[in-house]
Amino acid sequence: MKSYRKELWFETPTRRQLINITPKVEEILKESKIKEGLCLVNAMHITASVFINDDESGLHKDFENWLEKLAPEKPYSQYRHNDGFEDNADAHLKRTIMGREVVISVTEGKLDFGPWEQIFYGEFDGKRRKRVLVKIVGE
Ligand code: ZN
Repeated sequence: MKSYRKELWFETPTRRQLINITPKVEEILKESKIKEGLCLVNAMHITASVFINDDESGLHKDFENWLEKLAPEKPYSQYRHNDGFEDNADAHLKRTIMGREVVISVTEGKLDFGPWEQIFYGEFDGKRRKRVLVKIVGE
């Protein structure tokens, strides 16, 4: 069995952003030369997510609005996590809802997606350098 590991780095200009990272993961899969196996993609920070959904701009606005209803960024004082020097309690909650990682089957050297499935990095506390781990195992 082979394994291949790579990190993707991000520094979004805004606090929250969704980025389609499917082409980057496909590139890493190609480099790995693995044809059959599993591909794990996970956010390495507790205020960012990796999830699979549709690359449709209306839906992305719906995610933003829905997450802001569930865990509004402001007022910062509504969260106990923000009592000290932190202001990112909402980002921790959003990350938990949207998930830490995805696993995609690798078949014949390709990511074996269902219809319209794309991989996203969900940043909820950006403007700093953060990482995503891609680990592919198989043969
Ligand atoms: Zn925090």
